[in-house]
Amino acid sequence: MLTLNNVTSGYDATDVLHGVSITARPGELTVILGANGSGKTTLFKTISGLLPVRDGSIDYDGRSLHRARPNAIVKAGIAHCPEGRHLFGKMSVEKNLRLGSYPHRNSSRTDEIFGEVLDLFPVLKEKAKQPAGSLSGGQQQMVAIGRALMSDPSLLILDEPSMGLAPLVVEQVLASVAQINVNGIAVLLSEQNAKASLAIAHRGYVLAEGRIVLADDASQLLDNSEVQSAYLGL
Ligand code: ATP
Repeated sequence: MLTLNNVTSGYDATDVLHGVSITARPGELTVILGANGSGKTTLFKTISGLLPVRDGSIDYDGRSLHRARPNAIVKAGIAHCPEGRHLFGKMSVEKNLRLGSYPHRNSSRTDEIFGEVLDLFPVLKEKAKQPAGSLSGGQQQMVAIGRALMSDPSLLILDEPSMGLAPLVVEQVLASVAQINVNGIAVLLSEQNAKASLAIAHRGYVLAEGRIVLADDASQLLDNSEVQSAYLGL
């Protein structure tokens, strides 16, 4: 289980997260909702060690992570698929995917997970030798998610995976996210599509100006009038 206890972090002289406490339980899909600039990306970068924890603590499966380096956090089982994909466009799809396997490079597990990623995203089988930059936006998002899965995580952090994608592709990407979770990997997801993400989530949090303002079961959040007016357009 991932537990953040009163975490503060930010950039330079500015704190962006102010005492954030959340949990992401094993095997569950946890969604973080929040307007642009509320701190979702900052939260994820702090969990994965890309930003230092200024106050508070982060534990994963009983292990303290708030002073750990990013590569140690990946080795502890947390993979971060960043907003905006960050693929190497001229490199092949397969090479991009295999870059994610560095925690267990050269082990037979690498080929096994590579096969699992291609089973999850069959369209990538025929594109494996093509430059990642030649793929459609949705396919590139699959590569970004697949690359994170290549580290063999027990928790996958996904920062706005449907950003900029057409509605039909958003549905496909979120269906894949649900499948990853059904396969046994816990997911911590931020999404602009509040309704679609709550529909596949177990738990959800609402972040506003760097503070958690609501925490509940996803089904309760779907029925919550504040959430409905702020995020579901109802
Ligand atoms: P979005 O949905 O737009 O990505 P978000 O909820 O992920 O928003 P963050 O990107 O975490 O929000 O931004 C939270 C706050 O931190 C914003 O006020 C933003 O301007 C600020 N911020 C983000 N990145 C930096 C940075 N590198 N340096 C300084 N301030 C930053």
